[in-house]
Amino acid sequence: MERRLIAVEGVVQGVGFRPYVHRLAAAGALCGFVRNDVGGVFIDVEGESARVEEFCRRLSSAAPSVATISRVRVQHAEPKSYRDFSIAVSDAGPQDRVGASLPPDVATCDDCLGELFNPMNRRYGHAFISCTACGPRFTITRSTPYDRERTTMAAFPLCGRCQSEYDDPRDRRFHAESIACPACGPTLASRELRTGDSRSHGRAALDAAIASLSSGEVIAIKALGGFHLACDATNEDAVGRLRSRKHRPAKPFAVMVRDAETAMALCYLSAAEHTALASRARPVVLAPWRENSRVVPSVAPGGHMLGVMLPSTALHHLLLRAVDRPLVMTSGNRGGDPVVIDDAAASAELRDIAELLLTNDRSISMRCDDSVVRVVAGEVRPLRRSRGYVPLAIELPFALAAPVLAVGGHLKNTICVAQGRRAHLSAHVGDLESATARGALRSAIEDTLRLVGVRPTVIAHDLHPVYGSTLFAEQYGREEGLVQRVPVQHHHAHVAACVSEFAVRGPLIGVVFDGAGLGTDGAIWGGEFLAVDGARFTRCGHLAYVPLPGGDAAARLPWRSAAAHLARVNLTDQQLAGFRAPDVPQREWLIVQQLLARPAHAPLTSSVGRLFDAVASLLGLCQVSRFEGEAAMALEAAAGNRVEEGYPVTIGDGALWTADPATIIDGVIRDLDRRRARSEIAAAFHGTLRDLVVLGCERIRSDTGLETVVLSGGVFVNALLAASAQEALAARGFRVLLPRQVPCNDGGLSLGQAYVAACALREELCA
Ligand SMILES: [Zn+2]
Ligand SMILES: [Zn+2]
Ligand SMILES: [Zn+2]
Repeated sequence: MERRLIAVEGVVQGVGFRPYVHRLAAAGALCGFVRNDVGGVFIDVEGESARVEEFCRRLSSAAPSVATISRVRVQHAEPKSYRDFSIAVSDAGPQDRVGASLPPDVATCDDCLGELFNPMNRRYGHAFISCTACGPRFTITRSTPYDRERTTMAAFPLCGRCQSEYDDPRDRRFHAESIACPACGPTLASRELRTGDSRSHGRAALDAAIASLSSGEVIAIKALGGFHLACDATNEDAVGRLRSRKHRPAKPFAVMVRDAETAMALCYLSAAEHTALASRARPVVLAPWRENSRVVPSVAPGGHMLGVMLPSTALHHLLLRAVDRPLVMTSGNRGGDPVVIDDAAASAELRDIAELLLTNDRSISMRCDDSVVRVVAGEVRPLRRSRGYVPLAIELPFALAAPVLAVGGHLKNTICVAQGRRAHLSAHVGDLESATARGALRSAIEDTLRLVGVRPTVIAHDLHPVYGSTLFAEQYGREEGLVQRVPVQHHHAHVAACVSEFAVRGPLIGVVFDGAGLGTDGAIWGGEFLAVDGARFTRCGHLAYVPLPGGDAAARLPWRSAAAHLARVNLTDQQLAGFRAPDVPQREWLIVQQLLARPAHAPLTSSVGRLFDAVASLLGLCQVSRFEGEAAMALEAAAGNRVEEGYPVTIGDGALWTADPATIIDGVIRDLDRRRARSEIAAAFHGTLRDLVVLGCERIRSDTGLETVVLSGGVFVNALLAASAQEALAARGFRVLLPRQVPCNDGGLSLGQAYVAACALREELCA
């Protein structure tokens, strides 16, 4: 006889791990128990020693596919003569172990789908079907350990039949916390949004939504981590109505389709894109849009890419099969605000946008928007890391000396809580422009801290003094009495995020091409060549500064960036006037020219994002940006997946060198004079930036010997630039890293801030 006490850490709750352990114990005729606790799963097992040995060996190797085991600790103990093996009540008490990682929500599995569409099954057509292998997890959790009583499913006591499945070790719903059936589970309901009148319940509510979508109406749907707004993606009027009511004139919408076959009819999907689309996370996948597809152009105006996703819940499967056409499926929110998660807010916020509300009586505990991924340089990379990924932890290269909270940037905000060797990033919060968004930031912090079970003693934030997140950090630090605040430079954080996910040790080169981030000299940086080493960085070089007429307003008006760059090229007044696009008012143009003649008060910027804006404007592709990145997207699309020989670009001398963009603008102007095709100019511009990356990295290598390069910053969501820069650097012997677990845009900043703060702590302790 032998007895072992086994503590398992990692993503081991809500993944069918206890049932799995139960089966494993039964197979070896072992006794004892398994239970969830705050740290993960605890097993007390005894039996014949060879069988206990075998049990321990198989514990990790045959675990459920959704589980990730990060650590197993085994202790020997005196045998206790247990009589059977049971699943014991969870221990919710405080533990000195690192908190358990909850799994993200998992898309409906094939077994459940089979039942959903089988008229003989008792869960036929049940929108809330799930099992140990699939269903909501993160979004229904209120606290850990993960048990039904601590989820929003607690409001739905199991009926007799569900209970017997839950209790039966041979059933695939054995100890599945999220299960339900039509008799005991949540119920669908539909309501008129304008009047608030209830229309119908259950299947009739679903039918009302199907009829509404089929007739071209816009509906709001309560999904797992928030509300969606949906309409027929093949109906120009429906999409137009959604756009005008949501005050979203151009920013692309994502589309949900019933299956992968339909997705392939809309987009060209590579193997990697196909895999991402069908993965359990079910993200929105950005892929090249086929010409003449059923989806109307206004879904993504002027775009060459379409965001597609497959159904992630039974409700979505039921809707998509019934309407049998692609549906626009976009976040239920106003502007850049966080996605709405409760019925009252949906009624208030979405009543002018949607006709019908399809809701249910289960509340959403954790806000979690759709994730968005794109294949860049051959790998799937997140542009927004939310549903299906959060709250999976990112493993850090070293253990933190103290828990750190990082509050992220101002746009595309996420927060990060790091402790031990793990960093927990929140789902996408949104742009911190409104009080609603700042409220959501606070919830994201409180929710993450509660799940991870720590009190941070250090708070990291951006250098920018008036970012919503920085202001919040000051206030929160005061309220909570956090001992230390660590400001982190924006682009340093971009590089650090990538450094931490790849666990790179030692100094390296960071190339950050970005929209805007405050630099240590007060200028707006965004074309940066850094040498980064943990908590320290050196700025080696950058794109030469140009004045930004109107500051932040310039980001929305690419023609202003064009004017700023033109002012630095030798042109006659007449030539210059020729560059005013017809849709730019003469008066505004002249005001900007006057500003540029005396630029003392205009902020200076090295932003590559604004350089993209300038070139897009010169090519007549975009004068007014209706959403962030529109001009850059148009320029990438214009290049048509080609990179041509670049314009001349040189870098200066000295310890801090600059690359003058004037030579690039000059090249573009000459080509325009020569009537070279816009697509070729766009391709040559991409070639120029690739050359600049190589030139800058070679200079730093010859000065410092560094050979590892991180490419990050929002500009690198541009697959054409990222892939060509990576290839060119690799050909010259550099090791190139592009973020793949967190976004290279500002959605990844919080991880970088946490990492820099962790390094700062460590260095202080070492000193
Ligand atoms: Zn399932
Ligand atoms: Zn039931
Ligand atoms: Zn940034």
